[in-house]
Amino acid sequence: MLHPEFAKIIEISKKENCLVALSTNAAVLPKLPDSFDASNIGFVKFSMCGFSQASYDKIHRFDFDRIKKNIEIIVRTFRQHGFVGEFYIYFHVYQFNLHELQAAYDFAKTLNIVCHPVFAVINDWEKLKDFLQGTLDREYLNNVARDLLTGVGMGNLKPTTRCPMAPNLTIDADGRCVLCCLVDEDLGDVFEMTPEKWQRLHSESATCRECMQLGIPRLEFNAMTVDMEQLARAFASR
Ligand code: SF4
Repeated sequence: MLHPEFAKIIEISKKENCLVALSTNAAVLPKLPDSFDASNIGFVKFSMCGFSQASYDKIHRFDFDRIKKNIEIIVRTFRQHGFVGEFYIYFHVYQFNLHELQAAYDFAKTLNIVCHPVFAVINDWEKLKDFLQGTLDREYLNNVARDLLTGVGMGNLKPTTRCPMAPNLTIDADGRCVLCCLVDEDLGDVFEMTPEKWQRLHSESATCRECMQLGIPRLEFNAMTVDMEQLARAFASR
């Protein structure tokens, strides 16, 4: 959404018959021409770090009222421009914002969009690795213990041999391929990449091997989504 040619990217993807999924924290509104066609956007995910200014002061540091307003504008504008997909609020669950979840649900209901809670996790591969290996520095660990629901969000990660993120071609803003959205290891120019090369680089990657051994890919395909029973237990234990 930050890209100055956002509308052009959507237009080209439409011409190429590509469905698009967008993820945004709604801090910036994209510039859209009158001719903007949102009909090939399958879903839009709004990441929210809570539902109060106090929570936003802790994490995203944005003006919370502005974010709500921007979400309303994006939902309305995209629908006016042919969007028929699904909007989701990805509510990042921290210990300090559990009580704000209901307000986020109520807000989502007014816009007829989905509110989907997900456990906040350490979003830094190196630090996450240190946490799982028990080598995270004490000060950071204290913050993690205070803010995150570590047991349910990042606990019980077992080794895996599969990563759902590995097949996704990940490109940075300079057109360079990177290992995945968690690890920005440079894999070369996108115009020199082929599907075979992409697959080989991942299957030979020492980083991927270590990552799968630690079970980190499981965060993506199971641990991130909030199980409502787990959430109820987390509430009860506070
Ligand atoms: S295994 Fe880990 S490092 Fe490799 S693509 Fe998956 S998440 Fe990224």
